[in-house]
Amino acid sequence: MQMEKKDIRAVSKEQLREFFVTSGDKSFRGNQVYEWLWSKGAHSFEDMTNISKETRAMLESNFVINHIKVDTIQRSDDGTIKNAVRLHDGLVVESVLIPTNTRTTACVSSQVGCSLDCSFCATARLKRMRNLEPGEIYDQVLAIDKESRLYHNHPLSNIVFMGMGEPLMNYNNMMKAIDMIISPEGLGMSPKRIMVSTSGVPKMIKKLADDDVKFKLAVSLHSAIDEIRARIMPFSANFPLADLQESLEYWYKKTKSKISYEYVVWKDINDNKESIDALVKFCKYVPCKVNLIEYNPIDDGEFQQASEEATNAYIKALEASGIVVKVRRSRGKDIDAACGQLANKEA
Ligand code: SAH
Repeated sequence: MQMEKKDIRAVSKEQLREFFVTSGDKSFRGNQVYEWLWSKGAHSFEDMTNISKETRAMLESNFVINHIKVDTIQRSDDGTIKNAVRLHDGLVVESVLIPTNTRTTACVSSQVGCSLDCSFCATARLKRMRNLEPGEIYDQVLAIDKESRLYHNHPLSNIVFMGMGEPLMNYNNMMKAIDMIISPEGLGMSPKRIMVSTSGVPKMIKKLADDDVKFKLAVSLHSAIDEIRARIMPFSANFPLADLQESLEYWYKKTKSKISYEYVVWKDINDNKESIDALVKFCKYVPCKVNLIEYNPIDDGEFQQASEEATNAYIKALEASGIVVKVRRSRGKDIDAACGQLANKEA
């Protein structure tokens, strides 16, 4: 029986250097291969033109490169691009390029499906099939960087972990991918241009703070009242808002980095004064800003966007308390590329 070959991108640079020394070559060969794998994004050993044929064949017999393949690209009228990304085992995730006049943002997936069960989100219905490997997260970013250069004439400027999955439930792989994205040996991007969005897992938020990360954090809050939150985000019944608050205070104390709260206002769910007051109060615990996101319908109408007056009432109350609030319009709705709409419909 043939042994399954190891994904070479799961091997660290140091291990690669050692591998070459043990094979009777120079450790420096490890650096060359590492550069091909990460900063040059090689998808095959064939691509590694400054490595001898024999060495490439030797690598081929020991390792595989589990790279992604962008299967289909959909382009929205507003310039948003959605990639259906096929993984080496045939599963599919989606990532999105969101352009504005001055920048392009990549919205990437961290899991196939999602381990959480937010009832307003299309991805939740897929359940979690598996975690993405660091290389698979990194490749999504590379693919969007390429598209940004091709269609918008400039490199990718920002990354948000707001695609499929809960990044903090795939903590180690997400961290490794980000390490490579910010490393000069990878994409060399500033961590300030990266935002990780979580539905709010207190223990992992504290871990992020302990790991001294330099990227930004967004929390999908949607309600600052436990009972409402547990109804629309059932997993959160195990993570009461008091725990979330404590973890965010811990985060801020350690990182001094403001939190962004993602918040959708829904008709008959949180479009009331009690919900507004609760949010205003919650926003006082830690320096933050609020992004009011437009709801992207995914179903039969159980959830509906609240009226403009309701949204305005939120804005008025938040601003009166000195809290920065922005309304985020959906992008790429016509191709199901907006928040919460990623569900592999085309796959
Ligand atoms: N699991 C992470 C990241 C993925 S979801 C998180 O929860 O933050 C990215 C954002 O889209 C979250 O703020 C999520 O609450 C929001 N979202 C999910 N479904 C949505 C929908 N149908 N309309 C608008 N936003 C939605």
